[in-house]
Amino acid sequence: MKKITTVCPYCGAGCKMKLVVDNGKIIRAEAADGVTNQGELCLKGYYGWDFLNDTKLLTPRLSQPLIRREKGGKFEAVSWDEAIRYTAQRLQQIKDKHGASAIMHTGSSRGTGNETNYVMQKFARAVIGTNNVDCCARVCHGPSVAGLQATLGNGAMSNSIGDIENSKCLLVIGYNCADSHPIVARRVLKAKEKGAQIIVCDPRRIETARIADQHLQIKNGCNMALVNAFAYTLIEENLYDRDYVAKYTEGFEAYRQQLADYAPEAVEQLTGVSAQQIRQAMRTYASAPSATIMWGMGVTQFGQAVDVVKGLASLALLTGNLGRANVGVGPVRGQNNVQGACDMGVLPNEFPGYQAVTDAAVRAKFATAWGIDAAKMDPNVGYRITEIPHLVHEGKVKAYYIMGEDPLQTEADLSLVRGAFEALEFVVVQDIFMTKTAEQADVILPATSWGEHGGVFSCADRGFQRFEKAIEPQYNVKRDWDIISLLATEMGYPMHYDDNQQIWDEMRELCPLFYGATYEKMGELGHVQWPCTTLESQGTPYLYQGNQFTTPTGKGQLFATTWRAPAEVPDAGYPLVLCTVREVGHYSCRSMTGNCAALQTLADEPGFVQINPQDAEALGIADQQLVWVSSRRGKVISRANYNERINLGAVYMTYQWWIGACNELTQENLDPISKTPETKYCAVKLEAIADQ
Ligand code: SF4
Repeated sequence: MKKITTVCPYCGAGCKMKLVVDNGKIIRAEAADGVTNQGELCLKGYYGWDFLNDTKLLTPRLSQPLIRREKGGKFEAVSWDEAIRYTAQRLQQIKDKHGASAIMHTGSSRGTGNETNYVMQKFARAVIGTNNVDCCARVCHGPSVAGLQATLGNGAMSNSIGDIENSKCLLVIGYNCADSHPIVARRVLKAKEKGAQIIVCDPRRIETARIADQHLQIKNGCNMALVNAFAYTLIEENLYDRDYVAKYTEGFEAYRQQLADYAPEAVEQLTGVSAQQIRQAMRTYASAPSATIMWGMGVTQFGQAVDVVKGLASLALLTGNLGRANVGVGPVRGQNNVQGACDMGVLPNEFPGYQAVTDAAVRAKFATAWGIDAAKMDPNVGYRITEIPHLVHEGKVKAYYIMGEDPLQTEADLSLVRGAFEALEFVVVQDIFMTKTAEQADVILPATSWGEHGGVFSCADRGFQRFEKAIEPQYNVKRDWDIISLLATEMGYPMHYDDNQQIWDEMRELCPLFYGATYEKMGELGHVQWPCTTLESQGTPYLYQGNQFTTPTGKGQLFATTWRAPAEVPDAGYPLVLCTVREVGHYSCRSMTGNCAALQTLADEPGFVQINPQDAEALGIADQQLVWVSSRRGKVISRANYNERINLGAVYMTYQWWIGACNELTQENLDPISKTPETKYCAVKLEAIADQ
């Protein structure tokens, strides 16, 4: 029996754990004393590993390379040589005929690790010759990255997960940590025990609202108006830090003018919150000796999300809650390595280490390191995942190489996405399970899973942590970066790596932000937070020390703008708001957790639609009754779940169920900057299904 120290693959909390292995099988998980989790795990950490033992698989593990030579034909098992040769030929043909920009790639924010993401973006840029590479940050915290880069300089949490419990005020907006990051929720509880004031802004009475000192039960879709009213209050009541604003920020006068229409009294009806509550929340926030703002997808999955992130960062700037311990802004990243996928340049606008693709000097640096002609590097920002359905219909994208993503489950408006997949000439899926997207592939390249390989993840607070291989794979699968390297070589760009560390060191040499984060420094339980720019540095627990912002001028940028309504509001035909949320026992498209025996027993398909009993009774719907949920885009079956904590006029569904997938109902309304869809808001109706 042996115990392997690794990192949980299920959320950005980055909990360290030990996998106990006996006879080549994992028999249990134990919590390890990691920096973020302090010897604790949630249920996904304890029970989320047994898909690796093939105990109760609902969907088949991808166990050998498969090719489907004709659309609508059957998959045929082939050798690795043939799969690589065929894929390389098809990609080359499409590149020759339509140009490099006709090929789209994804990295993966899940169990594959930073090294693979580095290699994937290198493949897109050096081998195919395009910046068309993106990741699922696009549908979650893309607005946090864009909004924080614009206002403060870095698109990440400014503080540390460990800091949260020492803050004296937590302003939690659109973030249900009990379900999405249970171990972060523990820090919120500890902060409360240490005397922190907790302010929650959320339409539902979520777990954190139950322990909150103030719960602003806002209406769905009003975030910008609320944040503007917060800022208005801070200025009007003279609660802001004048010295700090004068020394470290820019744009105050324009900011103040932009806020003129957002007195708390003026937005009571729009937000559903009294002026008194708004004013009290800001009196508490501004008077705390240290205050932290935390948010999740209740902020970012709206058509006006980047603006709201900028507005939240501005509240921290107004009150001087940046640049020291126990304060800051915390967009808590969802998937375990979505921070890492962004760090590694799986973004259409940035190389690894957040270096712009539009900067000729940066392109020249990468071209030299990669041994290619800088003139052949794509100088333009590439496509985003969420733009692909439209670009396919316009004939601009012909091939899609998808690694560890399941857009046919996780993207908004699935009928639109399905139409694009039908029109694509060539789809390659590299994954571990036969997901809905894999079912539509022309080639399937089966990869090793978390547990079967090691590497480095970045957790939500910029902490690099090593995870290790625990067991040998049982199938004819290959490591993700090995597959990409074989493809690159077949396409005429010889690529080979001996191990993860060789890739990591190549990446470090090219990324000043990460240069000092060596494998040795991370060690077994280490957690090295970027920026870590020198070999002597131990990393950066909080950003902007000395209030030096990494914006072009070095100053924080204050920002407010006019509130915009969501794109589709309820009406007589579709009278309820649908908001998508998370299931505590499941993760992402559920391909991993849905194949774990213990986690399956928590809930069964079809999933639930949470509804206030008052709304349900008015519709003649009983608790646990099967219902149709319809929007203008689709119709799914679900099970009504009475829940007193749900606000009237809205229903909530998790996007993880295969039967009753709520993304059949959602709509796009992409944020104009981050291109993140508005999956938190669309109009639906519910109808009881009789004769059950
Ligand atoms: Fe920790 Fe998140 Fe894993 Fe739970 S799912 S054990 S909170 S990393």
